[in-house]
Amino acid sequence: MFTQDNNFKPFKNKVWLSSPTMHGEELKWMTDAFNKNWMSTVGENINEIERVVAKKIGCKYAVGLATGTASLHLAMKLAGIKRGDKVFCSDMTFAATLNPVVYEGGVPVFIDTERDTWNMDPQALEKAFEIYPEVKHIVIANLYGTPGKMDELRKIADVHGAIIIEDAAESFGAIYKGRQTGVFGDIGIISFNGNKIITGSAGGMLLTDDVEQANKARKWSTQSRENAPWYQHEELGYNYRISNVVAGVVRGQLSYLEEHIAQKKAIYERYKKGFEGLPVSMNPYDKKNSTPNFWLSCLLIDEAAMCKQVRGEQDVCYVKEKGKSCPTEILETLSRYNAEGRPIWKPMHMQPIFRMNPFVTVEGNGRGRTNAYIAGCGVDVGADIFNRGLCLPSDNKMTVDEQNKIIEIVRACFD
Ligand SMILES: *Cc1c(COP(=O)(O)O)cnc(C)c1O
Repeated sequence: MFTQDNNFKPFKNKVWLSSPTMHGEELKWMTDAFNKNWMSTVGENINEIERVVAKKIGCKYAVGLATGTASLHLAMKLAGIKRGDKVFCSDMTFAATLNPVVYEGGVPVFIDTERDTWNMDPQALEKAFEIYPEVKHIVIANLYGTPGKMDELRKIADVHGAIIIEDAAESFGAIYKGRQTGVFGDIGIISFNGNKIITGSAGGMLLTDDVEQANKARKWSTQSRENAPWYQHEELGYNYRISNVVAGVVRGQLSYLEEHIAQKKAIYERYKKGFEGLPVSMNPYDKKNSTPNFWLSCLLIDEAAMCKQVRGEQDVCYVKEKGKSCPTEILETLSRYNAEGRPIWKPMHMQPIFRMNPFVTVEGNGRGRTNAYIAGCGVDVGADIFNRGLCLPSDNKMTVDEQNKIIEIVRACFD
């Protein structure tokens, strides 16, 4: 229990995990849409963000859609995922990465995580192709804004003639070997959800170099209307196009992407320095080959410094030990001080809804399928990081004073 609260009162204003950071220009472009009465799913804001994002990311086409999830859904359809197809998917990610596989009747096969960037493990992917050589689709997310091992993953995909869909929802602006994330798949997506590095309040984009794919995505997203005087349909349609008002918010935010990344990076570096001497590490990245966007700063507690923590499906308890801590203690303590952290995204292979889906790991012995975490007992990588890791308050608007206080609160958990 954190006992040194005499010096500390809870934060007057809540310190968020990651909340929208507005600048004013958003209002200008929303108002522009209003004044010109382009209050629908066509207009200059949409055209402009499609142009600017394609240029920024370095792909030929960016198609503005209602959400990142809708973008993933259309990407899955373009990639040709069909009923009954097995699809290799990142395991430690947000469920939206792979829910659209299931919308299309596909079966996610979860691939365990590596320890260097917390993304899909190329070794586990290779093993998965040994078990399921027929698989033709891979969905890869860049967790918390950190690029995965894209070259290794691509090599394996190419050997097997598989298509990659890159979920860059969390990593807009992150760089791997000189190129922006979102271009490493055959199709990519980004998200403008309210908690992402920049936001439209909602929104997403599908990224491709193929003009036919871009045109199809635009057509499908506007109810698949054929070029006829009446509503004529030859294909299944969706109402997935982005609103010109939402695109106005995105348009206003785009010029602040680099500023947000610099703020997030400073937050990460301050945490890293602030936790020196503690038995913890920060979420890792490949310093030689990649520059993350540092969307969320995360902490991993050394195995030897973990106090006992047991998670059920909905609740958790832990036993405080001197000199040790656990994500639950840290998160509960932060919450008492009005700061928002979050557990690591619970791996998909541990989710009740996916309990029957295959899971491929090179490290574990399957024990990660249960919630019982026993240190050193051969859990897979995802379960291990979920048990020992947590996301720290990473809001752009957090002041240095607030962050210093958060660092002290965390440090005290190890007293
Ligand atoms: C946020 C997120 C999505 C979904 O984006 P929405 O715009 O919220 O639909 C997909 N994948 C990952 C990894 C995300 O973090």
